[in-house]
Amino acid sequence: MHEASLVQGLLNVAFRAVEEHNARVDARRAAGDPHAGARAARITRLVCSLGLLSCVEPRTLTACFELLAEGTPAEGAELCLHTEPLPCECEACDAAFELRERRFVCPVCGSDALRFRGGHGMIMTGLDVAAEDEADMPTAANEDKHD
Ligand SMILES: [Zn+2]
Repeated sequence: MHEASLVQGLLNVAFRAVEEHNARVDARRAAGDPHAGARAARITRLVCSLGLLSCVEPRTLTACFELLAEGTPAEGAELCLHTEPLPCECEACDAAFELRERRFVCPVCGSDALRFRGGHGMIMTGLDVAAEDEADMPTAANEDKHD
């Protein structure tokens, strides 16, 4: 299933980003940095851009996301999808333009002989997280480490 593998890839990227963030926070806390910030506990929102040629149905993708995110730190997160404009060139008249919908004809001469650059796949462009200690004891746990 195309959507499922895309979503799994996306979640892996998001989990890795959270892990890296937490590792940085841990390292700064260990060094006694009072501005280390908070560890991330949950993913609340994922922003993605979707290639015009990725052949993905946003509704299927969202359903897949909800299913695969269940029981993970991304459970209940909002998935925001943006379709990326696709850079193209016309082979007939050499016009360069961007397509924003799946109507693959040259806006200048009407030819459908187009060259695409990219347009496949899906990339994560934004990630919102919630801190684990938002509700209780912001940075008090750290205080004994200062000297
Ligand atoms: Zn053309």
